[in-house]
Amino acid sequence: RIAMLVLGVIFFAVIIAGMVLNTIFLVREIRRNERQDSFLNAVTHELKTPIASIRLYLDTLQRRPLEESQRQEFYTRMREDNDRLLATVEQILRAGEAGAKGLQRNAKGRLPVDVRALTQACLEETLRRHHLAEDAVKMVDDTAGADLRVNGDADSLRTAMLNVLDNAVKYSPAGVHITAELNTARRGFVILRFIDTGMGIPPGQLGRVFHRFYRVGGNASAKVKGTGLGLFIVRAIARNHGGDASAQSYGEGRGTTITLQLPLMPAGADTKAARKVS
Ligand code: ADP
Repeated sequence: RIAMLVLGVIFFAVIIAGMVLNTIFLVREIRRNERQDSFLNAVTHELKTPIASIRLYLDTLQRRPLEESQRQEFYTRMREDNDRLLATVEQILRAGEAGAKGLQRNAKGRLPVDVRALTQACLEETLRRHHLAEDAVKMVDDTAGADLRVNGDADSLRTAMLNVLDNAVKYSPAGVHITAELNTARRGFVILRFIDTGMGIPPGQLGRVFHRFYRVGGNASAKVKGTGLGLFIVRAIARNHGGDASAQSYGEGRGTTITLQLPLMPAGADTKAARKVS
């Protein structure tokens, strides 16, 4: 009798556990759909605005005889809208890539990426991209030669670093000074800080700069062109690697620090893999 009772209890426990798991799965699915919807709405809005604006300029050009100077101004505005569209599309493609890669790739699809070497390569690429003098960037390595490999996707990590570095250049109109600092102060993680001396971020908006399409308004940075997707992508990539991204700033005009934290590969992880292969 007791045995029957125990069996009955186990049976019910299994059924209830199944129901709970099912509900958790359903709720997750609903949340994911909601996130995708709001992303789509934001993307649609971001694409429609410049398209509608170009349309308006074209209509005016076609309907009204305009002075040459005015026509030239309209062409300039249309070119700017066109550039904004292109930049948005490029960023959306990158955002899609970051999300898809991170979510779909399992740990097996990832490879060891040397964060030290990648940081150095991205600093050099930034110098080339923006035609900067060599002393505009420097690297401070406080890791005492530690092994800085993370299990990840080199392309998306490169995208994340270049997004941060492009911002550091864009939002430093008075001259670019970027320091990339590496340390292992958090156990099992590599901490990578990109410190600039640019216009900074108002303290109240530090958390929001990682939100989709969020741009700081009402100060000098509103004049700089951008889509508000760069840091969103950076955080998505960091989180997809089991890490995170955060921003620090000491007020407007006092520079910005963007910190990436990425989990290091456990020591000896690849030796085990090597043993399995051999
Ligand atoms: P954007 O395409 O507008 O640069 P991001 O997502 O990369 O979009 O950044 C969001 C906002 O955060 C920017 O609009 C800018 O106001 C602010 N920001 C980002 N990086 C910096 C920085 N290094 N210095 C100052 N402001 C920054």
